[in-house]
Amino acid sequence: MEVSGEFTASLTSSSSTDEVFNVYFKGLVCGETVSIRICDTSYRCLYELRISSLFDAGDLVELQALMEALNVAVNLGLKRVAIFCRSNLVYQYLKGKRQPTSNKVTTLVDQVNLIRSKFVYQALFHMKRNYMKFVYRLIAKWTNSDSYFTIIEQCTICFEYIHNDQIYTVHKCLHRYCFSCMRQHVEAKLLQGKLPECPHEKCESKIGIDSCKKFLNPELYDIMRLRVKEASILPKDRVYCPFSKCSAFMSKTEVIAHTPSSSSTAAGDTGMRRCVECNRLFCINCKVPWHDDMTCSGYMKSYVFQSSNDAKLKSLATKERWRECINCKNLVELTSGCYHIECRCGYQFCYTCGAEWLDKKQTCGCRLWDEHNIIYA
Ligand SMILES: [Zn+2]
Ligand SMILES: [Zn+2]
Ligand SMILES: [Zn+2]
Ligand SMILES: [Zn+2]
Ligand SMILES: [Zn+2]
Ligand SMILES: [Zn+2]
Ligand SMILES: [Zn+2]
Repeated sequence: MEVSGEFTASLTSSSSTDEVFNVYFKGLVCGETVSIRICDTSYRCLYELRISSLFDAGDLVELQALMEALNVAVNLGLKRVAIFCRSNLVYQYLKGKRQPTSNKVTTLVDQVNLIRSKFVYQALFHMKRNYMKFVYRLIAKWTNSDSYFTIIEQCTICFEYIHNDQIYTVHKCLHRYCFSCMRQHVEAKLLQGKLPECPHEKCESKIGIDSCKKFLNPELYDIMRLRVKEASILPKDRVYCPFSKCSAFMSKTEVIAHTPSSSSTAAGDTGMRRCVECNRLFCINCKVPWHDDMTCSGYMKSYVFQSSNDAKLKSLATKERWRECINCKNLVELTSGCYHIECRCGYQFCYTCGAEWLDKKQTCGCRLWDEHNIIYA
């Protein structure tokens, strides 16, 4: 693993080379993590690292933790270390007082002893559990207000070692991932029209929008705001501005409140509404820019002629596997082999014939699935 040059520099300038550093380590099998701490003699923590463990047996995890800890100490340029071992068994293996029964353990013990031999001075101590608790309490006291202190953590998605100010914690479940993995995860969900949940498998913790500011760019943050708003409004109350440059999303209540009621064609009597974003008038029934001197049924009749002009776009849409949503006129892409399409407005329909799906059930007799439509990534 790499240790940043900046950190190494600050360490060597603030400590004399003949100082002995204390190395603590523990493997937590249940949390699947290994934790390492390196402190100076007054228990000030120089370095903490948490990484995922490779093993599931207690002594193997302990040995992995120790090996990582010693590698960190070597990389930090430390010459003298005191190693504090919690497990009596591991202590005895390292001292050669006891022979491991498994080959894996033997290999790890040999590797650890090889690294130990690289130090100018090293001493190995077995620590009783109670004393360890005392030490960790001292360390915790220092770490609260210590600028000397750094935490490096391994992201469980990309396996990079990341400084903890670039790590995001999901509020509810406390799962932790690096900013860059979170950004990719949230972006993918938002572009699918969904609100993101915790990336951890089967974890359904919601991700709060405010906390995403840390890692989302302003464009994605705006999309997330839109998704949050969409989720708060029932599909039947969702309205989208039909002007393609605008496409603003509003609730029915919002758009009614924004439409002037004093005009001769007042909202309520007709389908005329005013977009809350671009202030242009549109028809909420026909989902088109406002048809001034026509009723909705009159407009619908003329639409039959008008739609031949749209034929070009529509044939392109067909070719490119897009379908127009009957409800909101939005173009929806068929992204998998399933013919059941759900639009951003909540309207669900059959890809083949356009028939509406009701209560998650198909109302037409079309095939549901076509192998030729499956896109292989
Ligand atoms: Zn990551
Ligand atoms: Zn989670
Ligand atoms: Zn608009
Ligand atoms: Zn209309
Ligand atoms: Zn729609
Ligand atoms: Zn489906
Ligand atoms: Zn159908």
